[in-house]
Amino acid sequence: MKQNPITIVGAGLVGALLATLLTQRGFSVTVYERRHDPRVAGYAGGRSINLALAERGLHGLRLAGMTDTVMSLAVMMRGRMVHHRDGHTELLRYGRDDSEVIWSVSRGRLNTALIDAAEMAGARFVFDRRLAGANFGDEVTLRFENESGEPHEQRVPFAIGADGAGSALRAAMNATQPLGERIEPLGHGYKELEIPALPDFPAATIPPAAAAALARGERFAIEPNALHIWPRGNYMCIALPNAEGSFTVTLFLPNAGNPSFETVDSPAAARALFERDFADALPLIPELEKDFAANPVGVLATLYLDRWHLDRRALLIGDAAHAIVPFHGQGMNCGFEDAVELAQLFAATPDDTAAVFAEFERRRRPNAEAIAAMALENYVEMRDSVADPAFLLRRELARSLAERHPDRFVPRDSMVTFTRMPYAEAFARGVAQERLLRELTAGHERIGDIDLAAADAKVREQLEPLS
Ligand code: FAD
Repeated sequence: MKQNPITIVGAGLVGALLATLLTQRGFSVTVYERRHDPRVAGYAGGRSINLALAERGLHGLRLAGMTDTVMSLAVMMRGRMVHHRDGHTELLRYGRDDSEVIWSVSRGRLNTALIDAAEMAGARFVFDRRLAGANFGDEVTLRFENESGEPHEQRVPFAIGADGAGSALRAAMNATQPLGERIEPLGHGYKELEIPALPDFPAATIPPAAAAALARGERFAIEPNALHIWPRGNYMCIALPNAEGSFTVTLFLPNAGNPSFETVDSPAAARALFERDFADALPLIPELEKDFAANPVGVLATLYLDRWHLDRRALLIGDAAHAIVPFHGQGMNCGFEDAVELAQLFAATPDDTAAVFAEFERRRRPNAEAIAAMALENYVEMRDSVADPAFLLRRELARSLAERHPDRFVPRDSMVTFTRMPYAEAFARGVAQERLLRELTAGHERIGDIDLAAADAKVREQLEPLS
């Protein structure tokens, strides 16, 4: 069957995966991308050098036939390695065993692999085409500019905006018919720093433990198979491993107050903050001052829209529709779920674009709103609760109840990370479970003090079996 041509704006993670999935289903796909071809020009990233990939994202990659390629670039992360103020560390596993882990992948390599796969499947990419505006008549006219400012116009039946949080297609749609856009800033920003691979440490700065590891032929300065966190109450650092041995460190701070990006506003102030609060991380970041001066403060916000599509003419997907804060490591994972859902809907109803767009929004918007809420909650958990005994007791009890009632109790993080249960369902079950955990742990300090037989009865009474 001859299919309508499909136009995607943005060859980022979601646009490139969507292009593959649609092309595999016989659609003719063209993707317009603002940047130059990363395979020729090198990847011009700009933010978060690596990302955590979990089951939802992996599922999309599996359908695209990309698992082997991507897993060869990924580093396993078994859990959160918490670095306490006194210097001791503890691993809080994400799941039961190594079948429940997440993966750190390089954004640049993943994006390049996705573009390669889409092109091999038959999608056409046009690089150096920044969408500058769009008119929505009976047809859609997309107005692009290249790097030199030369205009290019393209008429298409409809367009899909995968052009990220600052989507130009969204702005054009919103100007035609308001989408109910609300952008809620988090009030905290981030700055990226680097722990180099051991062979890349300047010799004079290598800490003794790292020197010993280097002598043993190792490449990672700290445990590679973990997501490292330095929780400090209102702020934190995290570090994710890169396959070649380095770690990308992200410092999250409020925008105002003390400390904040207002007070920590120079390389010297950054060093003073690390000396005080992240003392065990400091020797691992030899270029702290240079990284701090070179990298911008990233902005964090949640995007909410009342409408994701303009009848049959335009649809938003991925961050363009629902950018979220990064604390659940789910933005890309959620965007990949979008791509799978949209490709399936197009395949099922190729001749009714309006119905596809409406159904896509109906299915995905409640889930995007649920993961947006959970990602905001997770910031408090990561920066604060992982060092809080009451939280750790609830977590231990959750583990125990999950073992005793696998058919009714699954920790919320596990539902989000290791399953494809709709986010909205994971969110609702999580609320009921959390209420129960708080009730059962109230007044207790140790799991041994909790009456597990009574807890079992309450689980059966209050939690529905999983479908
Ligand atoms: P993008 O990746 O932003 O891609 C948009 C594409 O559109 C880009 O290629 C861009 O160049 C192009 N474009 C933009 N404007 C135009 C235009 N006008 N014309 C043409 N092309 C255009 N998610 C996870 O799942 N796990 C994580 O661990 C994780 N960590 C994160 C850490 C940080 C600090 C941040 C900020 C985000 C993190 N995310 C994570 C979220 C993830 O980065 C996003 O959800 C994901 O990149 C969304 O993909 P996208 O394709 O929708 O948008």
